[in-house]
Amino acid sequence: MNTFQAPKGTYDLLPPDSAVYLAVREAISAPLRNSGYGYIETPGFENVELFARGVGESTDIVTKEMYTLTTKGGSELALRPEGTASVLRAALEANLHKAGNLPVKLWYSGSYYRYERPQKGRYRHFSQVGAEAIGAEDPALDAELIILADQAYRSLGLTGFRILLNSLGDKECRPVYREALQTFLRDLDLDDETRRRIEINPLRVLDDKRRDVQRQLTDAPKLRDYLCDACRVYHAEVRDLLTAAGVAYEDDERLVRGLDYYTRTTFEFVHDGLGAQSAVGGGGRYDGLSEMIGGPELPSVGWALGVDRTVLALEAEGITLQLPPATSVFAVPLGDEARRLLFGVVTELRRAGVAADFSFGAKGLKGAMKNANRSGARFTVVLGERDLAEGVAQVKDMESGEQKPVPLAALVADLTAKLT
Ligand code: ATP
Ligand code: MG
Repeated sequence: MNTFQAPKGTYDLLPPDSAVYLAVREAISAPLRNSGYGYIETPGFENVELFARGVGESTDIVTKEMYTLTTKGGSELALRPEGTASVLRAALEANLHKAGNLPVKLWYSGSYYRYERPQKGRYRHFSQVGAEAIGAEDPALDAELIILADQAYRSLGLTGFRILLNSLGDKECRPVYREALQTFLRDLDLDDETRRRIEINPLRVLDDKRRDVQRQLTDAPKLRDYLCDACRVYHAEVRDLLTAAGVAYEDDERLVRGLDYYTRTTFEFVHDGLGAQSAVGGGGRYDGLSEMIGGPELPSVGWALGVDRTVLALEAEGITLQLPPATSVFAVPLGDEARRLLFGVVTELRRAGVAADFSFGAKGLKGAMKNANRSGARFTVVLGERDLAEGVAQVKDMESGEQKPVPLAALVADLTAKLT
């Protein structure tokens, strides 16, 4: 029988690389946890209708990329392709918005699923860390989220990313622009699918990556010229707050993002070292989403950053994260009595907060020392029969190669002191 392989478009996270993923999740969420965002976890699947309504019937995510399934009980579910609709659904269901403490600020971290053509940086199973601020219309909130994402990337040492910023207008001015854009687009030379898109979601046509389409869009009406006064003032305030915070951004008229629910502020983080899959994260304001999924009016803003692509961005910039050692002390017993004693020492070290590991299984000294080397431990403790008789253990500094006997009674204190 053939052995199994991970499904197409997926990959396994394995040590030691998996430690980098954990560190990236940690780094992205740290600024959020420090800014009043509470952790939320929602199911990996939802009713398909939530995404159809919440993400939008005309989006690639819903029309092409969703993993849907019918349960034995006849429910139509979908593996979650993104986080916002689920988080808002959960917040509404739990009435978090009625607790009198708006905005409700939440962050999440997890797996997302999209049936895409797999490429480097584009997978069918990937990870995001996201943040949503629900129930407040305040340019400072939009700015806060962009600033926190910038802080997260910088804390990882990344510098090769850019922030693209745009405003999509609101329910006053967007429809006027939409019509002007449709009139313009209908005269262009486009394929049938794109023609259909003009009628359903014309802004998405601006997002078309094909060069022959982009060439025809040069003279397209600009949303900026259609923004109503309220949207104009709002956008100017977001920009001023970013500038005051020292966060550089680029205005990008073409940035409409893939989802239907965005209003006003939209932004994307792109990294120039990633080739075609350059977006490491994105987000925006979604003032209409709550009503679209049956809730009250709750203007909100959020983002999701891709963990996989952030790791690729680190690689592209040649950044190695300074991670705490997985093992600081590796214990090598020789003989049964030494084994019992050293196992106790390892347990004590661990309880004292020292990362310690042990040579398990029946192994000779040579094999055990190989394990010790591989573990990356700073110190190896060897306990042989003669040591035992003398009441000492040999502590080897793996960096200098120096080895010294340490009395067994002082072993834990000695190692703990050396490592802290
Ligand atoms: P793209 O334009 O590359 O398809 P997107 O606009 O579909 O990206 P979002 O829905 O905004 O992406 O998701 C936020 C982030 O999640 C992206 O910026 C990216 O880093 C990550 N992401 C999205 N889809 C994938 C995927 N299939 N594989 C890996 N990461 C992904
Ligand atoms: Mg996509």
